[in-house]
Amino acid sequence: MTDTDLRRLEARARDASRPAADEGLVVCDNLVRVFRTEEVEVQALQGLDLTVGEGECVALVGASGSGKSTLLSILSGLDLPTAGRARVAGHDLLAMSRRERLGYRRRTVGFVWQQTGRNLLPYLTALENVALPMKYARVPRDRRTARAAELLDVLGIANCRDRRPAELSGGEQQRVAVVVATANAPRVLLADEPTGELDTASGEDVFTALRRANEELGATVLVVTHDPLVSGQVRRTVRIRDGRTSTETLRERGGEGEEFTVLDRAGRLQLPRDYVERYGLRGRVRLTGEAGHVGVWPDRDDRSDG
Ligand code: ADP
Ligand code: MG
Repeated sequence: MTDTDLRRLEARARDASRPAADEGLVVCDNLVRVFRTEEVEVQALQGLDLTVGEGECVALVGASGSGKSTLLSILSGLDLPTAGRARVAGHDLLAMSRRERLGYRRRTVGFVWQQTGRNLLPYLTALENVALPMKYARVPRDRRTARAAELLDVLGIANCRDRRPAELSGGEQQRVAVVVATANAPRVLLADEPTGELDTASGEDVFTALRRANEELGATVLVVTHDPLVSGQVRRTVRIRDGRTSTETLRERGGEGEEFTVLDRAGRLQLPRDYVERYGLRGRVRLTGEAGHVGVWPDRDDRSDG
């Protein structure tokens, strides 16, 4: 790494405007979720740390089974963590009363699921589907219709307003689903592989709708995706591995991206596998304090050998 590279990295880390752990809109701290069945215990989340600032649009990636959906279920207020801390917009997700949880799910978060059929009611038109969450939130009828029409317009799908899901393509259904999720102006929009069942072009339209929700409606967006097209377009990509956040990529729009790793409260960090392999790191590594950074070296002595 050259000096210029390093200065850029440091400047970038300063500018990343990532708030301290307690300032984020979404804060997960050492989050644990254990599923117990009669025979087995699955640790879906094993001490996950994540902070998302207001207004961010973050992609979550990771192998199947790494805990992405578990995390989103918890953040959506559907599921409860086993231990740790999770706060979203001032709500403590481990300590909400039933009543607070209901209000939280109606007003603070919106979600889009992968399965198109799970997002929309089949017997309602797109406009009616968008108006429905507002009804639950007791918005007067005329305001509901006006806002639903406006949202469909802002997210670029006004032409579908009077059609039922069966008369929409998969991509159109998911775009309407994004609009439904924004109906009550949620602070946080969660989407679990919303483009997973779509072809590339439709997937891109859905992502555009998510981005408009972020940029024009001000929702903080957290989207689980396998689609490199999506993760290539967001500024921040967080990788989950084995139920913990491992590395992050930050990029300027259209840029290559720089890799970061997460340092937890105890000072632990996980090095990306390619660094570990490239520099032959294993067992004990040697640390050196340098000007403005820390060096991590293979233990040449390798006393562990033998
Ligand atoms: P991802 O969305 O990243 O593919 P999930 O969050 O769905 O991963 O799952 C993480 C792990 O937790 C997996 O091993 C999965 O089998 C397990 N798991 C998820 N939900 C349940 C559940 N309700 N009961 C038991 N195990 C579960
Ligand atoms: Mg999943």
